[in-house]
Amino acid sequence: MVQSSNVVVPAWPKVVWGNNVPSKVMIFHWLALKNSIPVKEVLARRNILPPNQSSLCFWCLSHVESIDHLPLHCKWSSAIWADLFRWCNIRWILPRYLVDFSFDWYYGMGIKASKYWKMIGPATI
Ligand SMILES: [Zn+2]
Repeated sequence: MVQSSNVVVPAWPKVVWGNNVPSKVMIFHWLALKNSIPVKEVLARRNILPPNQSSLCFWCLSHVESIDHLPLHCKWSSAIWADLFRWCNIRWILPRYLVDFSFDWYYGMGIKASKYWKMIGPATI
């Protein structure tokens, strides 16, 4: 654990690596948490997005395409999460940020999480 001011933050590797998750899922999750997935917000910040191209989400055209929006809050991804939670009979409001999602999911959203449950969140992202 890494302690920052009054907040105790678990170490990243535990959240991302070694959760019985396929390596390509772990790598994608890690890159997403490092804000290294080339969503439009990242491309614009790196001056790679052409100036005449909108930074709005390709799928919903209503929000900036960010690493927090695309896998969690876009209307298309929200529908996937809603189905997953309905199938698992879980009521949970997705956190605003992917980093909060990852910690909450890893630590079981307040419930005892199995190794398979820990795999479902990153794989769904
Ligand atoms: Zn969207």
